[in-house]
Amino acid sequence: MTSTWVIDAVKLGEARGLPAADFYLQDRTQRSLSIPMTMFVLRAGGRTVVVDTGGPSDEQVIRRHHSFEYRVAPEEYPEAALSRIGVRPADVDLVVNTHLHWDHCSNNHLFPNAEIVVQRAELGYAVAPCPAHLAAYGIHPGDVPPFAQWLERVRALDGAARLAPGLEIVPLPGHSPGSQGVRVDAGDGTYVITGDCVDTLENWDHAGTGEPLPSGRFTDLPAFYSSLTMLKGTGWIPLPGHDHSIVDKGRFGTGSRLRSDMAPATAAGPSAPRTSDDRV
Ligand SMILES: [Zn+2]
Repeated sequence: MTSTWVIDAVKLGEARGLPAADFYLQDRTQRSLSIPMTMFVLRAGGRTVVVDTGGPSDEQVIRRHHSFEYRVAPEEYPEAALSRIGVRPADVDLVVNTHLHWDHCSNNHLFPNAEIVVQRAELGYAVAPCPAHLAAYGIHPGDVPPFAQWLERVRALDGAARLAPGLEIVPLPGHSPGSQGVRVDAGDGTYVITGDCVDTLENWDHAGTGEPLPSGRFTDLPAFYSSLTMLKGTGWIPLPGHDHSIVDKGRFGTGSRLRSDMAPATAAGPSAPRTSDDRV
């Protein structure tokens, strides 16, 4: 199998009107932000791997659980988004969840033949988080949370792991106890899918200083800083979990060589985050 992966960043809806302090530690600007939900689809040598599966598309579920504005356009339903890039869910044999917050694992059930890779520490925390984090894990009275709907297919990891040639798990605790990234060797460089260790590129390079900035949502802030510092030292190219410019660009890893058996990527778009004033 080739170890040169091609990465598609697929938008699965958008949350709007969120406080900037959720994404940028101690942000006091009173801005509100819109952020995309992102699913990453990795392909190499005939194999397809998915990293994170977004939030729910069901209007009733969204209304029941979320007070903020969260919209999924029909073309952003995961089935439609996958079809557009030529992927059949049944052909996906591996799903990685960077962590188990609702907006990263709500569509795991769409991949019936996939083993699901999660850190054991994340599974442990998800079933009994502190009260402030119940909603983040989709735990609501009377509903089965997303992460509990496919436990029979989970492979629990304890730290780093090699998933396939050119594909490795990198522990990134801090945002949540078992947050993990995925290092991906592609044709034009080495990428890391960061989950919410890096929400947006502003977290990677805060105000042009080159310094990283954690989000305002975490379980262990010192660990969060350590994960970011480690990542900054690798030289890998970050693919954040909630950055508009990533889903607007769409495809990564091909350089100038676009494979003929895959649909073309979209053109690069504006940088994220978008403030409430330039919502789309
Ligand atoms: Zn999260």
